[in-house]
Amino acid sequence: MSGKQQDQHCRISYLYQAAHYLLQHTEEAKFSKHYISTAKQVSQKSVLRLHPNIKRTICKKCNCLMVIGKTCSVRTEEPSKRKPECDRSLWVCNECGTTKRFPLSNGKKKKKEG
Ligand SMILES: [Zn+2]
Repeated sequence: MSGKQQDQHCRISYLYQAAHYLLQHTEEAKFSKHYISTAKQVSQKSVLRLHPNIKRTICKKCNCLMVIGKTCSVRTEEPSKRKPECDRSLWVCNECGTTKRFPLSNGKKKKKEG
């Protein structure tokens, strides 16, 4: 990774963190959206891909940070439609209604307690 790329990488993670901060400390999502769209632009210009962990929390339609209970709600897909091991949770963006699907059964990660 070149120095310039590293610099851009820092910018992206800074913007992402700022977007999170703004969402938690202001009632309006538009400020955090602005940071997210800037982070996206930086990644496009520098041909750096957004980290999958970052990508999965961004609404692809309205650039909203998807925070459960704040900007998105989580539903479970109807279990009758598919096998239990394929259960997926459905994230619904409160801003624009776009949905994201994530597998529910994540065997590798254990829930943190205490
Ligand atoms: Zn959205």
